[in-house]
Amino acid sequence: MSDFDGRVVLVTGGSRGIGRATCEEFARRGATVAVHYATNESAARDVVAGLDGAGHIRVAADLGRGGASELAAATIDRLGRIDVLVNNAGIYEAHPVLDTPPEEWAASWARTLATNLTGPADLIHAVAPHMVEIGGGRIVNVTSRGAFRGEPDHAAYGASKAGLNSLSQSMAKALAPHGIYVTAVAPGFVETDMAAPYLHGPRGDDIRDQSPMGRAASAEEVARVIVFLATSGAESTTGAIVDVNGASYLRN
Ligand code: NAP
Repeated sequence: MSDFDGRVVLVTGGSRGIGRATCEEFARRGATVAVHYATNESAARDVVAGLDGAGHIRVAADLGRGGASELAAATIDRLGRIDVLVNNAGIYEAHPVLDTPPEEWAASWARTLATNLTGPADLIHAVAPHMVEIGGGRIVNVTSRGAFRGEPDHAAYGASKAGLNSLSQSMAKALAPHGIYVTAVAPGFVETDMAAPYLHGPRGDDIRDQSPMGRAASAEEVARVIVFLATSGAESTTGAIVDVNGASYLRN
């Protein structure tokens, strides 16, 4: 008997990177997984095919364009329930304040806030009543070190992740009386497609040296923390924002 036997987990952005590793870890621990993706169907198909166990599905939705309630409904319709929601999908766009024309600045802010903040908020709004109905649940939101450390060239990203931290803590207070526990995980640099241009670019060594470990985290390391927070017995972590940044940024 594994700790997630009979549980259904929806992982947004499950097709790649941290989301993919999270789907794999949940499936290894017995869960049935809904692997969400935006456009990369073949990647999502590969993830589903490689998961331990049976019954996993892939589900598409553009969370930057208001697809959250359909995503929740499709998952519940096909898998019967959602016990754990991992809001992991996100985008990381550069728009340096002194070099970005006004229309591009506005468009990038709108896309980033819609995908990284409003999308997760709408998904929580869609899933929470269902979790109340089934007697409880877990929500883990993937935020970022950038919310605390600043994102000079990606200001909307930093703001969206600070917003998602705040949302996590508000929801932890609102939903704990209903047996729904909400946490956030704030990674530093992680070896994924999103970080590849930075980690494998000219500043790669400087970025790795931000951590006394001298490296970025792996997606699997972040996934293990996400899964731990959703584990039965970890309820009192609700409201926590857990750093996974290799001591690259220590906050008080
Ligand atoms: P990634 O490799 O770039 O994968 C992004 C995932 O999000 C993909 O599954 C993608 O789907 C999905 N996605 C992108 N735009 C979407 C949209 N509009 N609607 C729905 N889904 C969308 O990213 P990652 O590095 O694993 O990052 C995962 C999370 O960790 C993000 O929230 C990110 O901000 C956070 N994070 C990452 C790092 C890092 O260094 N990598 C550091 C701190 C925090 P498709 O495959 O269909 O495109």
